[in-house]
Amino acid sequence: MLGMPRFLCDAMLGSLARWLRLFGYDAELSGAPDAELAERARREERWLLTRDRELASVGPRSLLVRSDGLEEQLVEVFRRLGVTPVASLSSARCSRCNGVLADLDRGDAEGVVPPHVARTAPRFRRCTSCGAVYWPGSHTERILARLRRVAEAVAGVPVTTGGR
Ligand SMILES: [Zn+2]
Repeated sequence: MLGMPRFLCDAMLGSLARWLRLFGYDAELSGAPDAELAERARREERWLLTRDRELASVGPRSLLVRSDGLEEQLVEVFRRLGVTPVASLSSARCSRCNGVLADLDRGDAEGVVPPHVARTAPRFRRCTSCGAVYWPGSHTERILARLRRVAEAVAGVPVTTGGR
């Protein structure tokens, strides 16, 4: 994941932050005052994503997100940074807290996830920060479909899907 841009989203962009994480990007979300956001973005070498015109003008690594819809916002950010997103959850981060996910053994998933999930899910991952456990399920296809739509819109061509 070396060389992937990292992000700091202002409080207006919670959904965008969650979906950048699903794409595998390090995307922090913060409701801190403008000056703090700008300073943190500079210090941590993150792109500051904001809906605020004034905040977007504070530095060369600030980006004003003009689109209203989530998928349009994702496409806008990737296009403006010249980034080609991959429609895969294999490098996804925790959508809740931006933590790094680590593989979790079935034995360790038992008692943490519902019993039928512990028996049937092909694999598990746990957030190393907040402890949330993830597994491929019925929701995964919907998420991947959205990642695919966004990746296709950025690339302008049909995209095949990677596995989780
Ligand atoms: Zn987490």
